[in-house]
Amino acid sequence: MELLYPSSLYCLCCGKYTDGSRSYSLCDHCISRMDFAMREFVLPAAGEAAGGQCDEAGRAAAAGGQTDEDGRAAAAAGQTGGIGLSAMGYGLYERQLIFALKYSGKTYVARHIAAILFDCLKKRLAESGDCPWLRADVIVPVPLHAEKQRLRGFNQAERIAFHLSRQTGIPLADGVLLRVRNTRPQRALSAEERKNNMEGAFALSAQRAAAVKGKRVLLIDDIFTTGATAATCAEALRKGGAARVDFLALAAVVRSGKNCADQARPLE
Ligand SMILES: [Zn+2]
Repeated sequence: MELLYPSSLYCLCCGKYTDGSRSYSLCDHCISRMDFAMREFVLPAAGEAAGGQCDEAGRAAAAGGQTDEDGRAAAAAGQTGGIGLSAMGYGLYERQLIFALKYSGKTYVARHIAAILFDCLKKRLAESGDCPWLRADVIVPVPLHAEKQRLRGFNQAERIAFHLSRQTGIPLADGVLLRVRNTRPQRALSAEERKNNMEGAFALSAQRAAAVKGKRVLLIDDIFTTGATAATCAEALRKGGAARVDFLALAAVVRSGKNCADQARPLE
């Protein structure tokens, strides 16, 4: 497929032919419609995130006094010791990009998504002189349930993590974190249901848990919505001996004009 239709010649978003010189293989129109604002947030504790939508997770973090004067989550990671970062908002065009990976089977899209993430991390480093996400020892993707992965044929977070690992040089620890229980989409559930939905959903593989023991883990997902998935994964990793878990997603769902975390810090 890649040989017949080189991914760099067609826009990943709309399929339009380009001259192959475009960043992330996106045409000028699509890239101009995307929201490349970086957002940082304190990774909530598992229970907190399960109780609320996206913006509430951010509010919970802010209420805990876990930001510094600049509103930077990184300077003051909360009780969990973890911080989150998203590279983009989640509008129509970003969704199209993620859908191209998830539902069209175009796994090569993951390489471009990883490039967007790596550029975001490098920008954070250039801006602040530090990038905690790049100091990770290992990269761990948010897992799919085995049945869902079998149906889709791959895990999109794992594909992104694989390419980010190659680009950053941070080793990939795949198969460490497992989704042992299939969960329902969080958005359709009440606060109480969300909490129950996530409980016990993730566990560490007994054979591979050593890969994260005492390590700084960078947890990867495609989208950050309620924060419940990231928080529950992070808790399972910490219980399994990870020293610290930070989180990175391509896109964060923005609600009513404000982002998932109150610590919005647009780049431009
Ligand atoms: Zn396009």
